[in-house]
Amino acid sequence: MAVPYGHQAVDDADIQAVVDVLRGEWLTQGPAVAAFEETFAERCGAPYAVAFSSGTAALHAAAFAAGIGPGDELVTSALTFAASANCGAYLGATPRFADIDRSTWNVTAETIAASVGPRTRVVIPVHFAGLPAPVEDIRDALAENVTIIEDAAHALGAHRAGAQIGSCRHSHMTTFSFHPVKAIAAGEGGMVTTRDPQLRERLTRFRNHGLTNDRSSLTRDEGAWYAEQQDLGFNYRLSDIHSALGRSQLAKLDRYIELRNVIAARYRESLDGIGDLVLPPEAPADSLHAYHLFIVQHCGGREARRRLYGELHERGILVQVHYLPVYLHPWYRRLYGYEPGLCPEAERYYAGCLSLPCFPGLTEEDQRLVVDTLWDLCA
Ligand SMILES: *Cc1c(COP(=O)(O)O)cnc(C)c1O
Repeated sequence: MAVPYGHQAVDDADIQAVVDVLRGEWLTQGPAVAAFEETFAERCGAPYAVAFSSGTAALHAAAFAAGIGPGDELVTSALTFAASANCGAYLGATPRFADIDRSTWNVTAETIAASVGPRTRVVIPVHFAGLPAPVEDIRDALAENVTIIEDAAHALGAHRAGAQIGSCRHSHMTTFSFHPVKAIAAGEGGMVTTRDPQLRERLTRFRNHGLTNDRSSLTRDEGAWYAEQQDLGFNYRLSDIHSALGRSQLAKLDRYIELRNVIAARYRESLDGIGDLVLPPEAPADSLHAYHLFIVQHCGGREARRRLYGELHERGILVQVHYLPVYLHPWYRRLYGYEPGLCPEAERYYAGCLSLPCFPGLTEEDQRLVVDTLWDLCA
């Protein structure tokens, strides 16, 4: 049996929650969406949460709500899933990239500042692997007219210096993903949290074709049926089926994050001193790591990492590589002319990174197999 790097944990309560929706009145746009949003907002400590059909849709909506467009620039981490940058490109804005700090693998106020220019309208810090990034420092270093969107696809359940990720204490919006490998699964799904009622309205319209039937914002009143399209939106709605699963999973979030931290602690203990492998950054004492990923660095470089990846896969341990620096994807190079060397720390990181199996359902036995195999291949 192969051991994947990530996997959902679905129990009978989750299954029952989905079945209840299937037996009910609504499959989409019913009460389960609002219930999920309300519970999620409460959990994050933000007044508003708006659900989307994916984390990518959530990022697209957040970038739209920020008002970014052609001629504007967005700055995000070089080390992230491409969706963190694509959301600006969808709207005609130009994605720029900030390098990571070698000791945290996150962007910092300094690395962001080095990539910000007069056209920067949006900055998207990513809480990489689940370790909270210093958003309060980043905010303090930016001009008032820059919108900060935290990409928290890795960091649901984490907190930094007493601030829950998603509370938007130092940002305008925070986005999440409910893809099965993330902290909670909805099948597909995403969320944006915010403290700003106007951003919430823009997010909600964007999710549903740009339509509104809110009496107070309509240009005219033609009757109770009347709705009008005020923006160019999409169908980015989350179904009641997905929402019910997401909400049921959310009830177990604390337990899941605890289990991920137990797994990380076990890796730290049992891989201590292993040749060629460096263990990932830890969270400071006042913060909580969500450990979406537990990533080791192979100091032997690109070829050694490639070999180890192959040997582990041959033995059924399905490690992964997260991520190629976004600007090195051919589309980014072709469109924006990016070249290797732009973010040296992200490139150095990429040459050695390997994500080990880390998810709530990973058994002690399977983790032991991963550890023993690594000692076998690396010692
Ligand atoms: C998973 C992920 C996304 C996109 O989420 P989807 O739900 O898969 O669309 C965005 N950003 C980061 C950093 C991610 O890991």
